[in-house]
Amino acid sequence: MTKPLVVITGASSGIGAATARLLSAHGHSLLLLARRLDKLEELSLPDALCRKVDVTDRAAVAAAIREAEGRYGPVDALINNAGAMLLGRIVDQPEDEWDRMIDLNVKAVLHATRAVLPGMVDRRAGTVINISSVAGRKTFPNHTAYVGTKFAVHAMSENLREEVAPYGVRVVTIAPGAVETELLSHTSDEQIKNDYAEWKAAAGGALDPQVVAEAIAYAYEQPPNVTIREIVLAATGQES
Ligand code: NDP
Repeated sequence: MTKPLVVITGASSGIGAATARLLSAHGHSLLLLARRLDKLEELSLPDALCRKVDVTDRAAVAAAIREAEGRYGPVDALINNAGAMLLGRIVDQPEDEWDRMIDLNVKAVLHATRAVLPGMVDRRAGTVINISSVAGRKTFPNHTAYVGTKFAVHAMSENLREEVAPYGVRVVTIAPGAVETELLSHTSDEQIKNDYAEWKAAAGGALDPQVVAEAIAYAYEQPPNVTIREIVLAATGQES
């Protein structure tokens, strides 16, 4: 018997891939979404439906969720993990990078949530886990547009928690500091990227994604009447 279905967006690398491996090892069926299908399939997890979906395409997300529910039953948890961190200065950052982050880090979180929430409310059960960031609590140099998206994730998570608490649905915010993943690689400004890499090294390195996956599993695996509202975790050497 597999445990109930968990949907993970951005499961092709980093935190999402580590979480997919861990929750699979804990016995869950999974729907894994990302644009790189080969990376999802390389995970080679049992009872895991892998779909090539750009999560900013709300119809494609909803269709994949319907397909997974047809196979494994209702979604018990949604992990809104897919995200992009395109660092830059507002004075000269390409504006399309703001659009990409807002569409992915903010709007896609709302749309994926909408795809599962009515069912959770009807069933009086379910968990939405949003991966925000320490950059959803405080500012950092060259992070203006990114912190805007992550402050939004924090605010939306907490407000959604209030909205659905009466229906027995839990909303959890996970806020990691720097994690060793592909996230930084998409920043287009080479100087900013190098400075960030030096900052990480000076802090003694970033967290392993497995540590974040374990925090996610800890929050999820509490009894249904317990909501871990937020977990903030970072490498000990990360001062800011
Ligand atoms: P990665 O870059 O390793 O992973 C990002 C994931 O998002 C990939 O699986 C990528 O898959 C997916 N993704 C990106 N764009 C899309 C899209 N349009 N549609 C579907 N999937 C998409 O980074 P992390 O694991 O670090 O990031 C995961 C989350 O953690 C993000 O929300 C990030 O903001 C947050 N976070 C990360 C921190 C860090 O220091 N690494 C710190 C704090 C928070 P693909 O390219 O195949 O589509």
